[in-house]
Amino acid sequence: MTWYQTGLPHIWLPYTQMKTANPPLAAVRTNGTRITLADGTQLVDGIASWWTACHGYNHPHIRETVQHQLETLPHVMLGGLVHEQALALARRLCDLLPENLTRVFFSDSGSVAVEVAMKMAVQYWLNKGVRGRTKMLAFKGGYHGDTIATMAVCDPEEGMHNLFTGLLPEHHVVDLPRDEESIAAFDAFLERHADGIAAILVEPLVQGAGGMLFHDPRVLQHLRRAADKYDLLLILDEIFTGFGRTGPMFALEAAEVAPDIVTLGKGLTGGTLPLAATVASSKIFDAFWSDDAQHALAHGPTFMGNALACAAANASLDLFEREPRLLQAAEIGKAMAPALGRCIGMNGVKDVRVKGAIGVVELEKIADMNALKAALVKEGVWVRPFRNIVYLTPALTIDEADLRKLTNAIVKVIENRAGL
Ligand SMILES: *Cc1c(COP(=O)(O)O)cnc(C)c1O
Repeated sequence: MTWYQTGLPHIWLPYTQMKTANPPLAAVRTNGTRITLADGTQLVDGIASWWTACHGYNHPHIRETVQHQLETLPHVMLGGLVHEQALALARRLCDLLPENLTRVFFSDSGSVAVEVAMKMAVQYWLNKGVRGRTKMLAFKGGYHGDTIATMAVCDPEEGMHNLFTGLLPEHHVVDLPRDEESIAAFDAFLERHADGIAAILVEPLVQGAGGMLFHDPRVLQHLRRAADKYDLLLILDEIFTGFGRTGPMFALEAAEVAPDIVTLGKGLTGGTLPLAATVASSKIFDAFWSDDAQHALAHGPTFMGNALACAAANASLDLFEREPRLLQAAEIGKAMAPALGRCIGMNGVKDVRVKGAIGVVELEKIADMNALKAALVKEGVWVRPFRNIVYLTPALTIDEADLRKLTNAIVKVIENRAGL
């Protein structure tokens, strides 16, 4: 395999200490919930490539739709041009989301979709003639991306606010209002600072990459009420939670709150092509609808609305319509709860929690991450723990046997304390 040896010295991998991490595994093929490695090993995939591949890998309907699009119109700029796939997708996303959300702005990554949401929120106030509302109110444990603007609204530790002091814009990052004490602190904070805030930004129900932390729908209802009281915008970042991951199509459905802006990404194309979206309400859009050219939204990624990616997303939505994905998400949760529950009480296990098709084993600590990762691969599964978290976000199409293989591997490795 010369491509591996000759290329490896030239690639820079994500979140990786390139000197000390286990060498990356060479993937040569994917199918369903399996990844085949160059040496012929098949791994059962527990995280669906950062939970993007919600229909499993290589779904024929997505492949055929993208193939057809590749032959007719792979890409045109959205500057001055539109195409059927982008318009159809925009309409379909608006049909799936709460009624007030009516306008879709496409981009190519979740981080950019969040940046666009933040820009929309700030420019919304400027267009309305309100100055000084430039800050976001975000939450500890949150994750919204890796770009400079989005790092600034992540959990301060995870977002490395100390490391990048001076570079990051300053926003407010506070505790979620989840109990009496934190609600009182949150309300008091708003009373003092609401004037400078453009929007509240939160991942609904599950804070994903920041630590797989769950919260109650009532938290979101409190945020909506607070936003209404102080005339703030509410941005829900559904990039992790969207497309059935927490059970319903979107997590916001469980809370029955209508946000002003929603961001989508990750599962949007069923894990095939990069695409993200920022969906705005009519209230937001109306503030940009003007005879004044300065009031236009000042953003435009080169590849926004890429036709191949939009075709993949449309095909993915077809599959959500035709196949029982949300039922499958619920079934996965039902199976994971008792299966991962076997870890409760084991030495070093802090918590086990399951919501929708998300299963989490939180450990006291992981002392040797390389050893833990290697032990999981040895069990024939692809799971990528981070910090003190071992989690599963499998394809919603995973069958019982593969899911059992995943949970058994995690239970066994934790029981044997590999790397712990
Ligand atoms: C992954 C993620 C992002 C960032 O998306 P990228 O495509 O990696 O830029 C933003 N918000 C949430 C909630 C995410 O899970």
